[in-house]
Formats: sequence, structure tokens, C-alpha cells
Amino acid sequence: MTRTGGCKCGAVRYTISAEPVTARLCWCRDCQYWATGNAAVNIVVPRAAMAVEGDLRTWDSLADSGRHMRRSFCGTCGTQVFSEARENADAMVVRVGTLDAAGDIRPESVIWTESAPPWASIDPALKAFPRQPT
Ligand SMILES: [Zn+2]
Ligand SMILES: [Zn+2]
Repeated sequence: MTRTGGCKCGAVRYTISAEPVTARLCWCRDCQYWATGNAAVNIVVPRAAMAVEGDLRTWDSLADSGRHMRRSFCGTCGTQVFSEARENADAMVVRVGTLDAAGDIRPESVIWTESAPPWASIDPALKAFPRQPT
């Protein structure tokens, strides 16, 4: 199925024409900024399946995983839309909160649990990784 989404203000829109490779929660320290204190909920999709329209700003950084990340967000409303790693150029990591419909997304795993605060609610049904899985 084709999924659509975009930022809160509508300046950025995207279409994903493939099923997610995986869906997961991330408690890395960076994601706690983007997700306002909680884990980020992400789907990983093939880069070739994603088409984006609109004016994105980007921020490049070195993640805790050692990967060179580029994070793309709407320059108008600030919504984090997706990220990508130079070391994994075939994949895009899309913020589930930006999907028009996310009800059928089934997170499979939770990563970077060692960075989660003690009060974090982590579903024991999910496969958990203390850091970035290889
Ligand atoms: Zn926006
Ligand atoms: Zn993260």
C-alpha cells in the first residue's frame, strides 16, 4: 500500500510506495529531543520508495551509534520528518507521527534502552536492544 504523510503545517508532504522494513521505538538521547522527552517512533523504509515535496531544512550530526546522520525537518513548523545515515544510504527513517494514518503500524522493537530514563514505559512485548542493533 502507499502511505502518505507530512509535517504539521503542510509545507512538506511525502509518499511512501513500499511497506516498512521495520517499525521501532528509539530511546537514543537524540530522539528524546525530537520526541519531546519520550522515545521516537520510526519506520524504516527503502529510500527509493520515498518521494518528498516541500522545503526541508537539515541538520547533520554524529549520532551515538557513530553514524553520520542527516535529520530533515520543516523549516516553517519544525516538525521532524525523517532522518538518514550516510552509512546506510538505502534507508530512510520516517517519524511515525508524520504519517496521515499510523493505526496499522506495529512496532517490533525498541532500541537504545540504556539511554532511557528510569520512568520510561517500555513494552516487554517488544524486542529490546540496549544500543543500536547491528
Ligand atoms: Zn511544516
Ligand atoms: Zn534515536
